[in-house]
Amino acid sequence: MPEAVLQRAAAEMLDWHGSGMGVMEMSHRGKEFGAICTQAEADIRELLAVPSQFHILFMQGGGLGENAIVPMNLSRGTRADFVLTGSWSIKSHKEAQRYCEAKVVASNAADGHTRLPDPAGWQLSADASYVHVCTNETINGIEFQQLPDLAALGSKAPLVIDFSSHVASRPVDWSRVGLAFGGAQKNLGPAGLTIVIVRDDLLGHALQICPSAFNYKTVADNQSMYNTPPTWGIYIAGLTFQWLREQQEGELRGVAAMEARNIAKARLLYDFIDGSDFYANKVDPGCRSRMNVPFFLADESRNEAFLAGAREAGLLQLKGHKSVGGMRASIYNAMPLGGVQALVAYMREFERSRA
Ligand code: PMP
Repeated sequence: MPEAVLQRAAAEMLDWHGSGMGVMEMSHRGKEFGAICTQAEADIRELLAVPSQFHILFMQGGGLGENAIVPMNLSRGTRADFVLTGSWSIKSHKEAQRYCEAKVVASNAADGHTRLPDPAGWQLSADASYVHVCTNETINGIEFQQLPDLAALGSKAPLVIDFSSHVASRPVDWSRVGLAFGGAQKNLGPAGLTIVIVRDDLLGHALQICPSAFNYKTVADNQSMYNTPPTWGIYIAGLTFQWLREQQEGELRGVAAMEARNIAKARLLYDFIDGSDFYANKVDPGCRSRMNVPFFLADESRNEAFLAGAREAGLLQLKGHKSVGGMRASIYNAMPLGGVQALVAYMREFERSRA
């Protein structure tokens, strides 16, 4: 979380804008929270340059919830295509099988999830209701540097992207997207809020079994207030959207500024890893994630010492996911360049002291 956002939330905790109550104490139907929610929606629309034919929905259930909610809303019980690139897309595919015929059209399992399958080779269905990709595989550290152009690949299906772990870190080419979903907890705010951005024509086709609170049309028709939305999450995300809109790098503003900063952060870390025999990253340089950098020590018996020293230096949460092992640096939007510089300095010193 950006510190400025946390400080503002702390200052407003007991009394929001002289209303005599904190955001957690407001009715979600009152004018105060209504203003917060409307502003948050306008700000994320502006920030991500979301075209007017897309609805922005504030929901609950997280990324894993969307793995069921998307097929319930979009599949019409027919077929959907899945590109498997790592842990999260594999989970999405597995869950969707409960609601439709979920076909694997490409997979990088044979490469140990270290490279993206070339879109030209995807075995897309002629009749898929949608095509699912996870555009940043958080655990494996793989990111699409460009969204696939399904129309150019001969598919008429809308593209569904799980952008949970890199939302607002780079611009989105909405001309290639039908629906984007993501939990807020990486780049936008606290856990508990899920953002869904969905094109108009994809509403209104939900399966009968779809719970009303998860029917995109119902949620859209009720401005995300069919049931009580995660008000605190929306408020904090709204402050984060404002913070993001204010960010500047030279001429660049907002998400473009964040992208420039994220490129610089990622380059610093990958260049250091690539220049060392002591550390290694196994991902194809063409699809390395700017947000999640998994790396390994050549001598894994040093892992515990590496983590203990890092903790002492104030560098936290570096242990890799249990399915991959090694280390993982998650350098989300709110991590400043100075944080990555501190990590690289620590890694260099650890290497030097063990040489
Ligand atoms: N998709 C991606 C890309 C993720 O990184 C995560 C969470 N790390 C999820 C889905 C699952 O999200 P949640 O825990 O909010 O259900």
